[in-house]
Amino acid sequence: MMLCSQRHSAVRIRSCVASLRIGKSPVRIAAMSVQTVAAKMAEVELKDVAGKDPSPAISPLTPKVEEKKSENNSSTSAAAAGEPSPVVASPSPVKMPQVSAMKRPDPQQNGGEAFVNCDGTVAEAPRMKKIQFADQKQEFNKRPTKISRRSLSRSISQSSTDSYSSAASYTDSSDDETSPRDKQQKNSKGCGDFCIKNIKQTDFGRREIEIAEQEMPALMALRKRAQGEKPLAGAKIVGCTHITAQTAVLMETLSALGAQCRWAACNIYSTQNEVAAALAEGGFSVFAWKGESEDDFWWCIDRCVNVEGWQPNMILDDGGDLTHWIYKKYPNMFKKIKGIVEESVTGVHRLYQLSKAGKLCVPAMNVNDSVTKQKFDNLYCCRESILDGLKRTTDVMFGGKQVVVCGYGEVGKGCSAALKAMGSIVYVTEIDPICALQACMDGFRLVKLNEVIRQVDIVITCTGNKNVVVREYMDRMKNGCIVCNMGHSNTEIDVASLRTPELTWERVRSQVDHVIWPDGKRIVLLAEGRLLNLSCSTVPTFVLSITATTQALALIELYNAPEGRYKQDVYLLPKKMDEYVASLHLPTFDAHLTELSDEQAKYLGLNKNGPFKPNYYRY
Ligand code: NAD
Repeated sequence: MMLCSQRHSAVRIRSCVASLRIGKSPVRIAAMSVQTVAAKMAEVELKDVAGKDPSPAISPLTPKVEEKKSENNSSTSAAAAGEPSPVVASPSPVKMPQVSAMKRPDPQQNGGEAFVNCDGTVAEAPRMKKIQFADQKQEFNKRPTKISRRSLSRSISQSSTDSYSSAASYTDSSDDETSPRDKQQKNSKGCGDFCIKNIKQTDFGRREIEIAEQEMPALMALRKRAQGEKPLAGAKIVGCTHITAQTAVLMETLSALGAQCRWAACNIYSTQNEVAAALAEGGFSVFAWKGESEDDFWWCIDRCVNVEGWQPNMILDDGGDLTHWIYKKYPNMFKKIKGIVEESVTGVHRLYQLSKAGKLCVPAMNVNDSVTKQKFDNLYCCRESILDGLKRTTDVMFGGKQVVVCGYGEVGKGCSAALKAMGSIVYVTEIDPICALQACMDGFRLVKLNEVIRQVDIVITCTGNKNVVVREYMDRMKNGCIVCNMGHSNTEIDVASLRTPELTWERVRSQVDHVIWPDGKRIVLLAEGRLLNLSCSTVPTFVLSITATTQALALIELYNAPEGRYKQDVYLLPKKMDEYVASLHLPTFDAHLTELSDEQAKYLGLNKNGPFKPNYYRY
């Protein structure tokens, strides 16, 4: 049944995808303009989805998927194939949206949150993760003193503090105690529309960016193709992401595609100061430095959006803080904003909540659940960076060590595989029998944490959950046990329970603490339970290239979409674009893609140029 529906779909889309043919390699796509590729892909997706295979891209993170029904599709091939039948969106007058509108169930988050409707009224969105502002009434042009800035209570969202990087920076916040807010700096062209640590660091930053460019082939390819064509001409993008060399490559690509960018950091610790300097020198309005206070954090975001004579029409967010700030402070801006591209799990949850509450004012793209993000960033990035993070902080030898990995999702799979390859004895804990079975089949012992907690040398959490490692377990760990977290939030290890009078904390290195029990036993706690790899090491640029390319395509797609293609909902990028992002990275490996013969394509019911999998395929 499924093949049959795919064949139908292939017949309908054949003519429109002819020009998209990848051929023997992605090179032929390279001859096309960026905009054309995006438009053609969207066209393909449109026709394909309008056929009999409109099933949504179901994320493994998403236990239940609810989609609106297409006017033209009362039954789906997924249903025909015995899959749970989702409800598919009906984006009349355009037959189908370009991407699958996918609503999520409530994430397990606490607290209600006020949201501003498009008409300016404020309403309560149920069960949103609460963001408190340091001082809702604070006027950002009235700058508090340095001391009062520091003493403002920590109030930014969890995501903003959950990860931070101390690595790969030539400079840190200690080299000059003056707050960037107290400095007047100008770049060599006399422009001062930025606020960074030190504009003099620009040369170091430029070198960092040049190194990153080498590992970001797809963005560089997009840039080349943009010569003479500017798919983002007129786009005014306000961004809030980690300001690193990789982000700089993305920003400079967006600029080459025609966009104007203003940027703040999504995290108070992750900015590479020298990279921010290079961006400011290059004319970007960057407001970020490593070691911002909470107040600085919101001040920087505000400086990005609250500027005379400039109003953003696109948002690129990582964590949802920027989006939230605009909702809170400048709801009218949404009249001009064409869309939001969101990168993180947390930010995406917020968008789905907004959408569910009917408060989402503009279309949004969920980049987090793109295959090219989830299956690469979460898996491969963690597979490489777990070792790096552990090594840099502890110099531990992995061979023969007993390790327990909590959670066998993408991140857990990556961590477990890396440690196994290094000769560690790896145990896995899981709550989900499917992931548990995967762990068993991959050769790991599935255990309950309490069964191995006394014997293991390293404990790694990667569940996205809370209180996975609680005090009771830490009391029973052996002397020298290393405890760390690879999940997004610092909720997985109950660090607060270690802050009791009988335990002594000893800072050993940056991001490394010994927590010592009265009998002398000590555990080694890394990054105070925050994300290990982003806190204590760097992450591989190539993986970020994949994610950044997806972000760039999402921006191009949303910005160029004709009126009505996207509604005020959260969308996934079309699979065809995922495939395109992957194809742009293949030449790095001198990889030779096999091309379907006509006969084979017909047999499988596929178009020779993709998409090669139905949306519900899980990879
Ligand atoms: P996932 O949902 O695929 O995997 C999490 C797994 O943990 C699931 O299989 C779930 O069943 C299991 N789990 C939940 N509670 C558990 C418990 N109490 N004990 C044992 N297992 C439990 O998610 P993922 O993609 O693997 O991401 C995991 C976390 O890592 C998320 O917070 C995500 O944001 C974060 N993340 C980190 C990085 C990084 O670079 N460190 C990259 C991507 C994602």
